[in-house]
Amino acid sequence: MTEKAPALPDHDWPVFAPGLVWLIGAGPGDPGLMTLHGLNALRQADVIVYDALVDERLLDWRRPGAEVIYAGKRGGKPSPKQRDISLRLIELAGAGKRVLRLKGGDPFVFGRGGEEAQTLVQAGVPIRVTPGITAGIGGLAYAGIPATHRDVNQAVTFLTGHDQSGLAPSSIDWEAIAKGSPVIVMYMAIKHLAQITARLIAAGRQAGEPVAVVCRASLPDMSVLETTLGTAARDIEAAGLEPPAIICIGRVALMRQTLDWVGQLQGEPARNTDPLGTGRIADVS
Ligand code: SAH
Repeated sequence: MTEKAPALPDHDWPVFAPGLVWLIGAGPGDPGLMTLHGLNALRQADVIVYDALVDERLLDWRRPGAEVIYAGKRGGKPSPKQRDISLRLIELAGAGKRVLRLKGGDPFVFGRGGEEAQTLVQAGVPIRVTPGITAGIGGLAYAGIPATHRDVNQAVTFLTGHDQSGLAPSSIDWEAIAKGSPVIVMYMAIKHLAQITARLIAAGRQAGEPVAVVCRASLPDMSVLETTLGTAARDIEAAGLEPPAIICIGRVALMRQTLDWVGQLQGEPARNTDPLGTGRIADVS
């Protein structure tokens, strides 16, 4: 357990007060993507309540004897109700525990961290919040895709392909997004992708627009599918891809041809050093 835990550098780290709930983002998977605040909290917590997308290797870094509680979906069983998780956190904090609430990615990005934190504050429980690297940015980086690139986009939209009803979100103005956002990064979008891509194409996006689907980003079994808006849903099905996946729509996805650093570290050459066709040549003189 803790023998394996990395040491924290010298710094005036926050002390984890008993009765506090510390909401922390674990990052998209690779344990190295959690923050030092996260590690500091792990080393002090009495109990860690974690979600399905948290890499369990991180739990090895906890204080010996710290309790761990799994609060995600497993083996097809229904997930614990959000209300029950919040009540559990309130109860643990009320018992004077140092409660670490560890969530995948960033807790405030499509992770219900905002709702949980609100419930805690309403119950009078003190909280601390430490952000994490969200899959929609950090996960793409592991696929060699920058979320913004000066030659492609001055704006990026993050959206969820699901809403509370489990349907494609009805509140999204697809026309506005199709027109206003050169890059669209989608969480939880595999299920409704055929519908989503059809709406974007109907709103004027090109069927040939590049799309990358990044599954299990930053983990050793990460896989990346390069496809297009018109063929993405079919290709995902044909490849049997499963969540968790981040889907990136837009020409930044082409940058992977140059920046697939994970592949390059394994010996694959860059496929193209000017995938945007801008003629940009590094001037290093
Ligand atoms: N709070 C998280 C998102 C939670 S919603 C964050 O900030 O990243 C869950 C969705 O996040 C998944 O369905 C998937 O779309 C995305 N996701 C999380 N981890 C991922 C990973 N390692 N690879 C690809 N997608 C991931």
